Amino acid sequence: MHIPPIPSLTAADPQLAGLVEAEAQRQHDKLRMIASENYVSAAVLEASGTVLTNKYSEGYAGRRYYEGQQLIDQIETLAIERAKALFGVDHANVQPYSGSPANLAVYLAFLSPGDTVLGMSLPMGGHLTHGWSVSATGKWFNSVRYGVSRETGRIDLDEVRDVARRERPKVIFCGGTAVPRTIDFAGFAEIAREVGAVLVADIAHIAGLVAGGAHPSPVGHADVVTTTTHKTLRGPRGAMILSTAEHASAIDKAVFPGLQGGPHNHTTAGIAVALREASGPDFRAYAAQIVANAKALAAALVERGYDLVSGGTDNHLILADLTGQGIGGKPAAQALDRAGIELNYNTVPYDPRKPFDPSGIRLGTAALTTRGLTEEQMPQVAAWMDEAIGAAVKDDESTIERIAGEVRDLLAGYPMPGYATA
Ligand SMILES: *Cc1c(COP(=O)(O)O)cnc(C)c1O
Repeated sequence: MHIPPIPSLTAADPQLAGLVEAEAQRQHDKLRMIASENYVSAAVLEASGTVLTNKYSEGYAGRRYYEGQQLIDQIETLAIERAKALFGVDHANVQPYSGSPANLAVYLAFLSPGDTVLGMSLPMGGHLTHGWSVSATGKWFNSVRYGVSRETGRIDLDEVRDVARRERPKVIFCGGTAVPRTIDFAGFAEIAREVGAVLVADIAHIAGLVAGGAHPSPVGHADVVTTTTHKTLRGPRGAMILSTAEHASAIDKAVFPGLQGGPHNHTTAGIAVALREASGPDFRAYAAQIVANAKALAAALVERGYDLVSGGTDNHLILADLTGQGIGGKPAAQALDRAGIELNYNTVPYDPRKPFDPSGIRLGTAALTTRGLTEEQMPQVAAWMDEAIGAAVKDDESTIERIAGEVRDLLAGYPMPGYATA
C-alpha cells in the first residue's frame, strides 16, 4: 500500500489510484538502479502532497506579487536557509522547476545568445543542457566541448584547458550525468580563472554525496552550483542554484522573472524536508554506503569480466561497455528490466554504435542503498546481472523470469519508504 495512503484518490479516481498503487509495488519489487533515481521518505512525500500546491507566489520572500504569503515566505526561507547551511554557500535559489530549467537560468544570468559555453559532451557523460546540439543550450549558444581520454575514460584537464584557451568561453560547466569519477573542481576553477569564465558545477547526480561528505564539494571553487534535488540528494523533483553573494541577484532575476512564473510551493516544502534529512548523521552514513556499494558492485562486475568505463567508480555510478558480452546496451537493459533489475542503456565514450542503440549500460547504487542493501549483497546483484545478460544473449526467458522472482524475494526483506507490504 502507498504510504501516505491515498483513500480519497481511490474513491475519486480508482483508475488513477490503481496505477499509483501498482507503480508503488513495482518500485518495491525491483532493484532500482537507474543512477538518477531514488526513494524519497514518506515525510518528503507528505510535504510534496499538501495544500501548498494551491498557492501562487511569484517573486521572493518579502517581495511577492500576490498577497497571502505569510506562511509561504517562511517555508521558502526555511528551504533556503537549510540549503545554505548544508552546502556552506552565501546564496540559494530553490525555485527552479527542475535541473534543466536551473541550468537554463544560469545561461540567462551570464550569457547572451551566441556567446560561447564550454561543457562536457553528451556522449562522453555530459548533460543535454551543457550545450549539446539538440538542446536550446546548443542551438542558441556557441557550445564547445570536452570529453574523456580514450585510454583512461577520465576527464583530461589538459584538454579542457586547451579548448578553454582556444575558445575563451564565458561559462564553463563541470559535472555530468554519466561520470563515474570524482570531479576535480579545483582543477576546473583554475582553468576558468585563467580564461575569465564563470565556473558552474552541475552536481545534479552527486549532490547527496557532496552533502554527506562522500564527494569533495565544489563550494569555494565554482562560482555557481546547480543541482537537482531528486537524485542522490533524495528530495522531490526540483532543483536549486547555489552561489556566492556576488552572483545572487543575477541568479534570482534569471529564475524569476527571467524564466519562470510562480514557484511550486509544495515542492519547495518537500525540498526543505529533504534538506533537513540530509543534514542529519544518518545521511552521512547513507552517502558513504552508496559509494561503498558502487565500489563493491564494480569490483564484482570486473571480476565477471565486465569492461567498466574508467575501470571502476569513485561515486554512485557505473558505466559498463557490454561489447565483450556480445549484446547491445538496449536489449541488455530491456532483459534486465524483465529480470527485475532496472537501469538504462547508455552511450560509452567513443561509442561506435548509435545513441538509441548504444554499447553500454549505466547504473547507480543510490536507490538500493536507501532500501538498506550493503556491500554484502553486491556480489549477488552482479551475479544476477551477469546471468540475466547471458540469458538475454541466449533468448532464455525462463532464467530471466526466475531471477525476477529471486530479486523480489530478496527485496521483501528491505522496506521501501513510501510503501507498506501489509
Ligand atoms: C539530471 C540532470 C540534469 C537535469 O535535471 P532534470 O530535472 O531532468 O531537468 C541536469 N544536469 C545533470 C548533470 C543531470 O544529471
